[in-house]
Amino acid sequence: MWKECADGIIRIPVPLPGSPLKYTNSYLIRGPRNLLIDTGFHRPECRLFLRAALDELGVSLAETDYFITHHHSDHVGLAAELAGEAGIIYIGRVELSWLRSYQKNSEDHPGSWERFDQRFAREGFPKEELIRLWKQNPARIYAPPQGGPYVPVEDGQVLQYGGYQLICRSMPGHTPGHMCLHLPELKLMFLGDHVLFDITPNIIAWPGVENALGDYCESLRDLQQYDIQIPLPGHREAEMPLQERIAALLIHHQTRLAEAEQIVREQPGLTAYELAGKMTWKIRSRSWAEFPLAQKWFAVGEAMAHVDELLARGALTRQEDEKGVCHYQGI
Ligand SMILES: [Zn+2]
Repeated sequence: MWKECADGIIRIPVPLPGSPLKYTNSYLIRGPRNLLIDTGFHRPECRLFLRAALDELGVSLAETDYFITHHHSDHVGLAAELAGEAGIIYIGRVELSWLRSYQKNSEDHPGSWERFDQRFAREGFPKEELIRLWKQNPARIYAPPQGGPYVPVEDGQVLQYGGYQLICRSMPGHTPGHMCLHLPELKLMFLGDHVLFDITPNIIAWPGVENALGDYCESLRDLQQYDIQIPLPGHREAEMPLQERIAALLIHHQTRLAEAEQIVREQPGLTAYELAGKMTWKIRSRSWAEFPLAQKWFAVGEAMAHVDELLARGALTRQEDEKGVCHYQGI
């Protein structure tokens, strides 16, 4: 159920039923006050598993605080409920503003679902598919309830738990304000979804973020500067040395960028939605039309992120048609 990965640091794999991610790794740092890093979705299966593990470990919620690597529901989902009145939840300042924006979900707020919908519609995503998505997106269904004892943290801020110094490291890309937590004494880093090992972290375009993939690759190069011997990812296991994985991820994105650029060159005028349908995906689906809707949304979001990076490099141009939909062509 749980496993010690370093002195006083325990990994609890919280199951994510039906998700290809399988589980979210929740990490516990034991001390007079404990720190729990990431939590799983706000749903019964995650709650039961995590609470049973904490009970078995003799952890009192009255003596526990939380650190959330990013605002995705599979990480922040249970934090507010577990913290109750007794704990605080550290989360990057940018992530907190995104989290609050979903909770308000108002049209004028920078992070609301409506702004995502507007951007996806501009990139050719059919409106009726976006409406259907509203009803089945786990990020929306299993999001935490409103409010919570959140405390924003900044890049470089130091937290102290379990006799360790933990440094907040801003690593944007997977989300606009994603943070890793660095424990230099053990050459250990809690990676969240910045680096995963047997799956590739999803990098999508975000409303209000000019070039998420550019940010992500820069954060990967930033992470290359650290000597990390114990990399602790947010999902699954670390199957190879961190540096090896970072190098593979950088190559992966260069290859994908070259593929996207070539497709647009050969078929000028594509929307990002159409481009996504022509890129290669590791998914068992016969055709683009049969892609499950949620997977399609992420695929288009990724195609958009690739297009944004190619625009930043000056490799593509974007043109808006009379309906406000964007079309791309090579230079
Ligand atoms: Zn995740």
